[in-house]
Amino acid sequence: MTDKADNYNLLVKPWIPILWADGNPARVSIRTALIEAGRIRQIAASNPMDNVALLRFLLAVLQWCKPDLTGEDRDEIKNADGIPEHWLRKRGAEGEAYAAFELLGAGARFYQDQSLSGEKPKRPVSDLFAYLPADTEINHFRHVYDRTIALCPACCAVGLVRLSAAATSGGSGLSPSVNNAPPVYSVPIGDSLLETLRLNWPLHPSEEDDCAAWETGKPRAKRIGVLEGFTWQPRAVWLGPLVEEDRRKCARCGSSGRVACQMVFKKGRSRKADGRAYSDPHVAWLAKKNRPNDGGSDAKDPALRGPDPLKRSVREAALWCQTGRAVLDTVGDDPPIPSLACAMERLPKGLSLRVTCFEPFTKQKKTFDEHRDGWDVSLDLLRSDYLRGLAIEEIRWVEGLDLSKCLPARQDCQNAYDAARQRGASARSDKTKDAAQSIIAADVQHRLCDLFRNFVKDLAKEHTEDAAGRCVTRWRDAAVSLLRDVLDRACFFSTAGSPLRRLEAAEITRKKLDQTLEKLAESDRKLPSGPASKRESEPQKRGRA
Ligand SMILES: [Zn+2]
Repeated sequence: MTDKADNYNLLVKPWIPILWADGNPARVSIRTALIEAGRIRQIAASNPMDNVALLRFLLAVLQWCKPDLTGEDRDEIKNADGIPEHWLRKRGAEGEAYAAFELLGAGARFYQDQSLSGEKPKRPVSDLFAYLPADTEINHFRHVYDRTIALCPACCAVGLVRLSAAATSGGSGLSPSVNNAPPVYSVPIGDSLLETLRLNWPLHPSEEDDCAAWETGKPRAKRIGVLEGFTWQPRAVWLGPLVEEDRRKCARCGSSGRVACQMVFKKGRSRKADGRAYSDPHVAWLAKKNRPNDGGSDAKDPALRGPDPLKRSVREAALWCQTGRAVLDTVGDDPPIPSLACAMERLPKGLSLRVTCFEPFTKQKKTFDEHRDGWDVSLDLLRSDYLRGLAIEEIRWVEGLDLSKCLPARQDCQNAYDAARQRGASARSDKTKDAAQSIIAADVQHRLCDLFRNFVKDLAKEHTEDAAGRCVTRWRDAAVSLLRDVLDRACFFSTAGSPLRRLEAAEITRKKLDQTLEKLAESDRKLPSGPASKRESEPQKRGRA
């Protein structure tokens, strides 16, 4: 366990970015992250996907050390400073576990393929991070030559860990990671890193013979378990030699000192070639009726993913409807997001389930964006089928509001424009209508989502059906008033001509919105299993003790 110049052991070197409970940022080792998890607020990389990748990695290490927790174990760590150190000593022979987390050096290396050690490193290290420029990609704010990019060992480790959660298909035969294109990851979280680990640990499916990537020579489990899934290696990597020059700094954290510039970067494991089943506990698995039906190629995809924001910007803006429904649906034997159902069992009464959703937007090799969103839903609401049903019903109502149909089409204003055209004015192009739709989508969904979150909070406090009904009315009134306001503004931006014409267009949109709302109310009445019928089947839910 000596620390030679070319050693960098992730168990003891500070590389995981965190925020201490007192607000100070730092980097810590795996050992410190676990043993002092009670004093750590959260993992705090600047990119959402790095955060989820690092959290899932720590969970894998923890579950590898201690696959199960008894009731007493849970009590022991309830208000502790962290994971008891002796829990982390259980795996492997003396020194074996330590060696598995060695990032550099001539022998076996963490998350790398030793058979590539003799090859010439030809790829830039920026391949490890979608947000660093590489090759001829031009969609970056920062333009640099590949040869000028360098990463410190700590950032290289983050990049290797990121691949398991977020690798896309890379072109030239490079496969995406175990969940194919990175899906939306929904992770239950607590007030400290320890609490977050406690809510998530252990995770299922835990298969017999399940093994992490750093274990060698273990038989293959029949299905892919959570250890194998969380540490999946979609790329075969060997980091190139570290250099130390004054002018070279790490492209991610700016630190000077030893940096790697190049690496061997080839195709690693392919889920397609593997063929075994895997169901990731942090992914929302959608029932057929909840999948997008706007004609996209992802209609058959069971996992919830952020849509292509260039082609489906309206759906991208409305992603909250899908994550919200998946969170609210998380009860029963077959919950869409398995980890949330486990966390609900582990939470004390009276609290709320807090979920962070990590949302990447990718298409094949390209990563367009990575967001972080979240939900905070009272356990009381989640445990009441009636209130949950009402909330889910309101998501269905919002999804039924196709605002693009409310904008006046050209023929709607035909009469108004005819006169203008005769005078030589140009007609509005469809492009302005598209632009108006984009304004609506991005702005209105953001504000609708805020209104809906408040509605769900208010709904959880209601004790009777009448009060819950009034809560629904209040939220719908607020939502409709918001839609009117936004549609007015869209007309203002997209209608050519005098202010009078804008007013005329706004009137048309209001009328269309009213028609859409009427149609929705009509389909509500026809619906066989709306909240009304649930109300009859659950009279005991009327009042809570
Ligand atoms: Zn760095």
